[in-house]
Amino acid sequence: MNSKKKKFPLHLKILIGMLIGVVFGLGMTQFEGGKDIIIDWVKPWGTIFVNLLKLIAIPLIVASLLKGILDLKDISKFAKIGGRSILIYIGTTIVAITIGLTLVNIIQPGDGISEETISKMTESYGGNESITQKMQTAEATSNAGPLSFLEDMVPSNLFSALSDNGSMLKVIFFVIFFGISMLMIPEEKARPIKDFFDGLNDVVLKMVDLIMIGAPLAVFALLATVVVTSESVEVLQALLWYSMTVVIGLLLMIVFYVLVVSIYTKRNPIWFLKKLAPAQLLAFTTSSSAATLPVTMERVEEHIGVDKEVSSFVLPVGATINMDGTSLYQAVAAVFIAQALMVDLTFADQLTIILTALMASIGSAAVPGAGMVMLVIVLQAVGKFSPEQIAIGLTLIFAVDRPLDMLRTTINVTGDATVSMVVAKSMDKLHEPPIDDED
Ligand code: ASP
Repeated sequence: MNSKKKKFPLHLKILIGMLIGVVFGLGMTQFEGGKDIIIDWVKPWGTIFVNLLKLIAIPLIVASLLKGILDLKDISKFAKIGGRSILIYIGTTIVAITIGLTLVNIIQPGDGISEETISKMTESYGGNESITQKMQTAEATSNAGPLSFLEDMVPSNLFSALSDNGSMLKVIFFVIFFGISMLMIPEEKARPIKDFFDGLNDVVLKMVDLIMIGAPLAVFALLATVVVTSESVEVLQALLWYSMTVVIGLLLMIVFYVLVVSIYTKRNPIWFLKKLAPAQLLAFTTSSSAATLPVTMERVEEHIGVDKEVSSFVLPVGATINMDGTSLYQAVAAVFIAQALMVDLTFADQLTIILTALMASIGSAAVPGAGMVMLVIVLQAVGKFSPEQIAIGLTLIFAVDRPLDMLRTTINVTGDATVSMVVAKSMDKLHEPPIDDED
């Protein structure tokens, strides 16, 4: 398509942007006022880019999901795609939690944390507003009834659902309902609507392309901001083993995806990772699977070859409910906090962690820091932590939450893409990619 892209792949441009962002951010921390310069003059470019991506997320989901349903023509096929993807999502999440729990029990990162470190760290973060806020959000979520997720899925007003990026499932519900109804009326009546959404779909995909031109600059801005606002190395050292446990777990998840891609879909996993790289790098820099979604969809459909009929449902749903990286992190963090605070966890407690981390990752919003909110619910479900202990626990891991969030979001996005390939393969909907360039 674009011969220039061949010479210099997008993921390399993004990587260079990231690297310069880190170096520039580090350099600016050496000057007094450097941080303010970045916050005033550099950060806005990153924010604008993330806003642009969020801006097109809802139109993209609507146009592409509707196109997917209408192209399928047969409603029972749609039920098959839906059922399969949800089952596989649950499966991969259980694998992630199991890996997390196994590692944290073997490595025991919380055992080496002295009382002194705990009190030093909680002192510097005591009364941290962000933690208080997270606990309050978790409180509101855990007070909800057992069927509230179903209630939440059905919007009472389409326009308020469309105007809220957090209402992705509501929008998906409406589009499925609308699409199925369209299949039930005479084709000639439905045609103008179909043509309109087909056109809209192409326009929005073009918008993704155009926005991505700014990606290298945006990741530079985002990472420079992360660097100047991050914690001192000293704090990070105390949490080194905990962070390492999460990182090793996340790396094992990549191995798991690579195996699934090569064994089940018979595609070269390196090729898969290379094609997905721009989405992964964006997930890393933005810490938000929702903001990354337009790019994930574009990569998976245009560069990996998953049919829109599959990806248009599997990916938006995955961005909302499938968070392998987040659930792995929640399992490790819960046990780490128990180890550090010397709370004994039985086998049954660990099973509770598996179940609640599964539910919590489904319930976590696809935005930065959401995994930590749901961690509160996991800790509450175990029933052995007092509210103070939960606050201390969160405070303890807060310092490294951002870097771990960046990594777990990358895994969340990779997991969604892998599952979309698996579902596509199982339905014979994995084709040669439409765009076959070096990018
Ligand atoms: N930031 C993650 C995501 O958007 C969620 C989390 O783990 O906090 O996928």
